[in-house]
Amino acid sequence: MVTVKNFNGYRNADYVKQVRELTRRYPGIRARPIGQSVLGEPLLALVLGAGPEAIHMNAAVHANEWITAPLLLRFVERLAEAREAGEACGLDAVTLWTVPMVNPDGADLAQDGIPPGCARAEELAAWNGGSGDFRRWKANIRGVDLNDQFPAGWELERERRGASGPAPQDYGGPHPLSEPEAAALVRLTREMRFSRVLSLHTQGKEIYWNYREREPREAEAFAGRLAAAGGYRAVKLTGSDAGYKDWFIDEFRRPGFTVEVGEGVNPLPLEDFEEMYKELEPILAEFIRG
Ligand SMILES: [Zn+2]
Repeated sequence: MVTVKNFNGYRNADYVKQVRELTRRYPGIRARPIGQSVLGEPLLALVLGAGPEAIHMNAAVHANEWITAPLLLRFVERLAEAREAGEACGLDAVTLWTVPMVNPDGADLAQDGIPPGCARAEELAAWNGGSGDFRRWKANIRGVDLNDQFPAGWELERERRGASGPAPQDYGGPHPLSEPEAAALVRLTREMRFSRVLSLHTQGKEIYWNYREREPREAEAFAGRLAAAGGYRAVKLTGSDAGYKDWFIDEFRRPGFTVEVGEGVNPLPLEDFEEMYKELEPILAEFIRG
């Protein structure tokens, strides 16, 4: 069972190891590389089901929200288990593309700080205000906030955030999709033409579902159903641009959601994992049902 219990955190190496174990154990889970991180780590998608409708979930876009990676991986495992046991899990109608670890370099940085011998050690320390404590770091390893990278109101978000260079959060990069992790998500999304997407963040127990009136009419009610499934709140958000779900809604005019899992101060403690998963599973199951 995918868990974080025996881990002191959850690094990309833990993710890669568990992906290997899951694909070996369940023939129904296929691993597909969709690109590479700045440091050359493979960005691995896990694919389940063979239905005609392609849908997507991603997690760990923000470095210090890395707990969302094992949460999504646990869900992938539960689906594979259910499918093997012949239980109905909605995978006959859809093909589910998950990318549980979008920001592997950042997730490791947020937990271990600057790796020994790192070529960008000096820059990273400066971007972090001289501190060696990276627990609040959200960006990728180049100090770009991946959820401010997408081409939907990118300039507006840049003005709002006011970050002029690499930083722990809020810097959208020199131009949209300058970072390989964000570019890989866009490439995958355009290729597969997902009919709906969902992105996992922490925290707040909220679900965001709109973008500048570009969302389809059914999005609000859909968000209400997702929220009800997990005891979360559906929230109509204003004053936000350039996120993955913003871009997806803008480009495809289909349902896109950001789910803020759990409650507390990021990074959420591993002790919360099981409780977070319990609330999240019915939300993700409802998303698959559509
Ligand atoms: Zn986030």
